[in-house]
Amino acid sequence: MSNPAAPAIPPFQPPRRALMGPGPSDVPERILAAMARPTIGHLDPAFTDMMEQVKTLLRYAFQTGNKLTFPVSGPGSVGMETCFVNLVEPGDQVIVCVNGVFGGRMVENVRRCGGVPIVVESAWGRAVDVDQVATAFAATPDAKILAFVHAETSTGAQSDAAALAEVARRHGALTIMDCVTSLAGTPVLVDAWGIDAAYSGSQKCLSCTPGLSPVTFSEAAIDKVRARGTPVQSWFMDLNLVLGYWSGEGKRTYHHTAPINPLYGLHEALVMLAEEGIENAWARHRAMHEALKDGLEKLGLEFIVPAAERLPQLNSVALPADIDDAAARARLLAEFNLEIGAGLGALAGGIWRIGLMGASARPENVDVCLKALAGVMGSRE
Ligand SMILES: *Cc1c(COP(=O)(O)O)cnc(C)c1O
Repeated sequence: MSNPAAPAIPPFQPPRRALMGPGPSDVPERILAAMARPTIGHLDPAFTDMMEQVKTLLRYAFQTGNKLTFPVSGPGSVGMETCFVNLVEPGDQVIVCVNGVFGGRMVENVRRCGGVPIVVESAWGRAVDVDQVATAFAATPDAKILAFVHAETSTGAQSDAAALAEVARRHGALTIMDCVTSLAGTPVLVDAWGIDAAYSGSQKCLSCTPGLSPVTFSEAAIDKVRARGTPVQSWFMDLNLVLGYWSGEGKRTYHHTAPINPLYGLHEALVMLAEEGIENAWARHRAMHEALKDGLEKLGLEFIVPAAERLPQLNSVALPADIDDAAARARLLAEFNLEIGAGLGALAGGIWRIGLMGASARPENVDVCLKALAGVMGSRE
C-alpha cells in the first residue's frame, strides 16, 4: 500500500441557511464571534472564572439554586446519559414515560444501566398521561425514579412537568427531566417543580452551536449518587469525578479538556438570554408560534398536537397526501435556503416539524418559512 497523497481540498464554506428544524437553530453572529476568541488553557484562572459565570447563568436558565449546575462536554444525548448512569443503579425500578422518540431513548438508557424500566406509554403527539403515571406508581411502590421528556421534539407535545414531579414526590421517587427543547423556549422551573435531575442542549432554544449539554442536580440527586453501592459504570460521566473539575472551588483538578471555545459560545448565548430576560424569551417563542400557526393554517396545514399541549418552539403539521416529503424539503433547502425537520420514528414521512427555537424565533424566519412553504405547495393552491 502506498501512502495517500495530500488531498487538494479547499477550506469548507457552509451555505447560509434559515434553520427551522428540530435543532440546531440559527446561531447569532455574536455567539459565533465569541467562539472565535483566543483559546486559553482550561485550568487558566481566566477560564475558570468564566466557568463560574456559565454556572451562574445556567442556574438562571434552569430557574434553580442547585449548586451542581454545569454544561456537560457533549451533546444533549451525553447530558441524558450523565443523568441515567449516575442515578440508576442495577436493579432500580424506573418509571419511564414514553410519548415519542426521546422517551424511548430513556428506556434504553435505564436498561443499559441495569435498571428495570416500567414503561408508561402515551399516544405520540399527546402530553404524557399523568393519571397513568400515578397508576404505575401504585403498582410499583418501590420505583426509585420517574423519567420523562418535558418537550417531546419528535412530536411537538409538551407535558405537565409540575404535575408529573408532584406524583413522583408523593411516592418518594426522584425525577429525571429531559428539557433539551424546552429550556429557554417555554418555562422550565426546576426548583418550583421539584425536579431532581434535568438535562438540556446548547443548540435548541439557547441558539448556540451543538455539543454542550447543560445539566442540573438537586441535593437529593447528589445524595443518591454518593450512596451508590456500585461505581458509576462510565468513567467520563461519573459525577463524583466531574465534580472535582466543575466545582473544585479554587483548586480544580484535571478531568478532561473542556471544549474551551464552544463554552465561550454558550457563555455568550446565556448572557444574551439574561439580557433579554427569560420571561421575554418565553413570550417571544409564543408570539412567533402564533404568527406561524396562522400562516400554516392558511396554507391548509393541520397541527398534529391538540392546542393545549403544543410546544411553541416545535410545530408539527401533517403532511398533505399529495406532497412528496423528501422532494419538498430538498426544494426548501435548495431554493429557499430553509431547513425544516422531517418526521421521526413512527411519524417518519407523515409530518413536518417546524422549529422556532432561540434566534430562529423571529418574524423574518416566520416570513421566510411561510413564503417558502407557499412556494413548494403552490401548485396545489
Ligand atoms: C435534540 C434532543 C435530544 C438530543 O440532543 P443531541 O444534542 O442531539 O444529543 C434529546 N432529547 C430531546 C427532547 C431533544 O430534542
